[in-house]
Amino acid sequence: IKNVSKIYKSGNHSLTVLNDINFSISKGETVAITGPSGSGKTTLLGLCAGLDRASSGSVVLSGVALDSLSEDERAAVRNQYVGFIFQNFQLLPTLTALENVMVPLELRGEKNSKAFALDLLAKVGLADRADHYPVQLSGGEQQRVSLARAFSNKPALLFADEPTGNLDAETSEKIIKLLFDLNKDAGTTLVIVTHDLDLAARTNRIIKIKGGQIIANETPQHA
Ligand code: ATP
Repeated sequence: IKNVSKIYKSGNHSLTVLNDINFSISKGETVAITGPSGSGKTTLLGLCAGLDRASSGSVVLSGVALDSLSEDERAAVRNQYVGFIFQNFQLLPTLTALENVMVPLELRGEKNSKAFALDLLAKVGLADRADHYPVQLSGGEQQRVSLARAFSNKPALLFADEPTGNLDAETSEKIIKLLFDLNKDAGTTLVIVTHDLDLAARTNRIIKIKGGQIIANETPQHA
């Protein structure tokens, strides 16, 4: 991330959400992004993942400058490298939990997509909810379907926006373990936006943002 700024414009108003941000994340790292509500964490995550474009500066993912790409090219890079767990889950309402998890698998041409997706749902504790539609699931259950879907892509890079925000302590711990296991076993780089300081303390690095700028970029005390 080099000299990245993001300005939202509507009519005569403009809001500078990120102002000249610089940092880099190495393959296999686990990084937490923290900061007050409205400080630009979700915006920053979206830029890192190539979901949105910076107003200025450059975002380089695996040697590719995302800013120079078309929408389609950015989507191709995302499909190849990136998993994203959205704060509001973004499940497809007309598909069941199982079908939602199967989408990236089918896009990838996976042959055993149903068995694979069922296994992923079992891992997040939702084997018995496979045939439920999102509207029939609680917020925490939708969150876990969203996690299973992000895992299904076997991403090199996983971005998670408040992955434990809607979960009770026990489920939260299960999900955190899944995330860190993925990092340990598959070398998946994790970038997690969180208000949970205990979760942040378990990562390799904490990036704190406030007022559109990075106010700390440091290794947690325990490491
Ligand atoms: P939270 O912790 O509450 O989720 P956040 O740190 O993730 O907040 P963002 O969602 O990145 O913050 O939003 C940062 C600021 O940008 C907020 O003031 C928000 O209102 C504004 N903002 C976000 N998206 C847009 C948009 N598409 N258009 C205009 N303003 C936006």
